[in-house]
Amino acid sequence: MQVVAYSRMGQYLQMVERRTPSVFVAIFVQVVRFQLLQLESRGATAVESAFADLDLPAEHALVRENDTRGNLDDGVADRLAKLAAEDPEKVREVFQSIADDFADQNGIPRKQIQWVDLNGAYGRRDGAGNIQLDPDFLTDPSVLLHTVVHEMEHSRQYEGMAMDPNSTTNGAGMTPEEAARWRELNQTYVRNKGDNPSTSVDEAYRARPVEVDARRAGRDFVNNLTLEELEKYL
Ligand SMILES: [Zn+2]
Repeated sequence: MQVVAYSRMGQYLQMVERRTPSVFVAIFVQVVRFQLLQLESRGATAVESAFADLDLPAEHALVRENDTRGNLDDGVADRLAKLAAEDPEKVREVFQSIADDFADQNGIPRKQIQWVDLNGAYGRRDGAGNIQLDPDFLTDPSVLLHTVVHEMEHSRQYEGMAMDPNSTTNGAGMTPEEAARWRELNQTYVRNKGDNPSTSVDEAYRARPVEVDARRAGRDFVNNLTLEELEKYL
């Protein structure tokens, strides 16, 4: 695709140099745009089929529409916002219960949530694998509901990847085959796909399989959390 873009750019400059009538230049631009779009869609299809061969446990999507943080039920949002205003300590316990429940459901070690100022980030896993959340966002609990499950899903992914490759039993809520796929999907060459190493921005971040999957987990949790289910964490 870059080759096409580069050679067409040369032709375009020649046309400008030769003072080609602008109507022809405009048509040329349209044609090249179409060629590039075709190449892009072929590229996207190839990437998707490469991932499809890895046969992930759940659908593995590239970044696309619906890849949001999820929509929280209004009743749940109100209940948590009120609780955050009245009893901030209690609301922190709710987040801890959600994290513990996730860990128990997936057979991974529980994580003690650390509440720390993260300079505008909602949450993260630190180098030791601890879950950190920024308490500033307790005023909008829907943000942190996504984040706590997102980060716990990362814990699950890494627990799975750390499983003994010769194991024949399930762990971290996945089969040995699924764990092997995660090891494959988190190799450096996959993690860096789409990144430009000469910039300090990590362009590959959003499309990274571990991130797509963590967003899926956070989004599903937020979308499916009912008032009734929230009660079990209170
Ligand atoms: Zn993430």
